[in-house]
Amino acid sequence: MTKHTLVIHGGAGTILRENMTPEMEKAYLQGLEDALNAGYALLHKGGAALDAVKAAVVSLEDNMLFNAGRGSVFAKDGSQEMDASIMDGKTLQAGAIGGVHNIRNPVELAYAVMTQSPHVMLNGEGANAFAASAGIRTEPDDYFFSEFRYDQWLKIRETENAALDHNVQVSEKKFGTVGAAACDQFGNIAAATSTGGMTNKQWGRVGDSPIIGAGTYANNKTCAISCTGHGEIFIRAVAAYDVSCLMEYKGLSLQEAMDIVVQDKLVKMEGEGGMVGVDAKGNAALVFNSAGMYRGIQNSEGLKEVNIYR
Ligand code: ASP
Repeated sequence: MTKHTLVIHGGAGTILRENMTPEMEKAYLQGLEDALNAGYALLHKGGAALDAVKAAVVSLEDNMLFNAGRGSVFAKDGSQEMDASIMDGKTLQAGAIGGVHNIRNPVELAYAVMTQSPHVMLNGEGANAFAASAGIRTEPDDYFFSEFRYDQWLKIRETENAALDHNVQVSEKKFGTVGAAACDQFGNIAAATSTGGMTNKQWGRVGDSPIIGAGTYANNKTCAISCTGHGEIFIRAVAAYDVSCLMEYKGLSLQEAMDIVVQDKLVKMEGEGGMVGVDAKGNAALVFNSAGMYRGIQNSEGLKEVNIYR
């Protein structure tokens, strides 16, 4: 039996202890722990990595504190458009959606694209129409609304700036995207990522999260990766796939490959953020170049940890 492992993130950025109240800190840590519990329960009873990452991401999407599903950020036109993707390292099957609205759990729609359509990526109204035909749950606008993110948007909506989630708050810079990567008992790995994107983004803007190879990638031969950070730069760096390439072609370990991409390549491109990953032996790494990253890990050797700061 392979060591089974789940890693999750709830976004990276300038997350500093001094800007956090004890109540907020507790709520974030609880949200991370809930997501670990949801995903790891499946791994523990012999479930597939693919189902574990989906369950963990659903839990984070349902949590208002994170910028994905409920609590997503607002675009320039005041809408909430969401992106998500999922990839199965065993089959290299993938599903992704960009710019959808009113979808309760975007990662479930990405999964439906993978399993119920011949395509990898659907976007905008076409993706919403597909959701209806696939029986994906929708919610009214109110469900997604959060006062906190609406206020962020009000602060910058008259500007041309698009901000990375909590960047709008002067003292705190955060990317609140969520994601997970897992290795199951059979040595299969998978990754999933979900986001509301950037506050005040141009409507129609799609970030790295739903781009296979940029924000999400999984291949049993190498690794499963979920990213968070400045999407445009993660796309140009082909960040998740670059980790896989360093492992496949240069023989680097997961940790070595992630360190190079996050701490060297992305830093040189001014790409702030981080990523979580596993390999098919259940090894894990959680790497970020920002002050903090909401993150968690649980494995079959009894390790269970949730963290925020460096
Ligand atoms: N990567 C996401 C995006 O650019 C933002 C984030 O990670 O919070 O859409």
